[in-house]
Amino acid sequence: MNEQDLKKQGFGTKAIHAGQPADPVTGSVTVPIYQTSTFAQKSPGVHTGYEYARTDNPTRTAYQECVAALENGKHALAFSSGLATIDTYLHTLRSGDHIICSDDVYGGTFRLFDKIATRFGLKFTFMDLSDLKKVEAAIKPETKAIWIESPTNPMLKIFDIAALAKLATSKNILSIVDNTFMSPYFQRPLDLGADVVIHSVTKYMNGHSDVVGGVFITNHTALYTEMKFLQNAVGAVPGPQDCFLVMRGLKTLHLRMREHEKNAIAIANFLNEHPLIEKVIYPGLPSHPEHALAKQQMHGFGGMISFVIKGDLNSARKFLETTKLFTLAESLGGVESLIEHPAIMTHASVPAENRRALGIVDTLIRISVGIEDLQDLINDLKTALESIR
Ligand code: PLP
Repeated sequence: MNEQDLKKQGFGTKAIHAGQPADPVTGSVTVPIYQTSTFAQKSPGVHTGYEYARTDNPTRTAYQECVAALENGKHALAFSSGLATIDTYLHTLRSGDHIICSDDVYGGTFRLFDKIATRFGLKFTFMDLSDLKKVEAAIKPETKAIWIESPTNPMLKIFDIAALAKLATSKNILSIVDNTFMSPYFQRPLDLGADVVIHSVTKYMNGHSDVVGGVFITNHTALYTEMKFLQNAVGAVPGPQDCFLVMRGLKTLHLRMREHEKNAIAIANFLNEHPLIEKVIYPGLPSHPEHALAKQQMHGFGGMISFVIKGDLNSARKFLETTKLFTLAESLGGVESLIEHPAIMTHASVPAENRRALGIVDTLIRISVGIEDLQDLINDLKTALESIR
């Protein structure tokens, strides 16, 4: 099937076929890992389209085409990590340029913006993006983009992507959505009007906790051309084996996301009724403040849950040390369930007063619900909760 016809197919079909026709030389049905750093030329400058593997690699090309198809985008570029993706985008900016960023972003994104990019004269306003009037008032002549994470990490706040994208367009600036938590299976920001989607593919896209990577997707050809130039000029590219592994992970993204969500809904309900839980934050619960917006702009609620347990930091420590199936580790989105303490682990780089203001308290726990058997996961949480009674 040609790529044009493939664009009209369903999500699972695109995940398995987009960018991945059978190998024209051998008939291999999976895209080979082109483990090479360079490509032979017939005459100086006469080559097959591939010159040097930082610039392009056929395994990477296939992977990028698959990712673009899944996000309903024209162009995708792959990078060596989610942060390398964000950092490469920052290279499109000039000293003095300004970005409006959600105040509840992944700690590493905050650190890159606040500690590194500011050294080069970039300016940032971190704010709650739910009040559009305030966001509009924060836009200055030097503003170049609104940086959106929705749901946010770790408080799972939901922002109105379509409204923010519309505002950005009206001001001639970009709306950029970090779609890591939802994956394109549950949320497609370009369809909502956003200009750019980025992912840490380390998470759901690869899904097996064995690759670190990132992608950048856009429909704007001029922006793509600049980012493609930077992909080569800055050089934070993934190796062919990692491209292959993420592409393999993508083939089951739709199946995995359905299972993550099925387990997460049941676990959110279990936690919600447990006497030792103070509060459960999950976009799929009617008690979530933006549940209606989540239903409107997402195709599902995902596998991430944050919750506050009763007690203090010691109770949180004991609880986190007791789970067995939920592995205490940073990261998320893999087939295995993970549990973590945002204040000490993923969000330690966010200043303590900002953490407090956002609600990242000492008893806040974040879980990435995997696709193990549901009852085993519930039993694990039940036992850990008993340990702090
Ligand atoms: N964006 C989000 C929402 C994340 O959770 C992470 C990592 O946890 C990143 C970006 C950074 O990605 P990476 O760890 O692949 O550099």
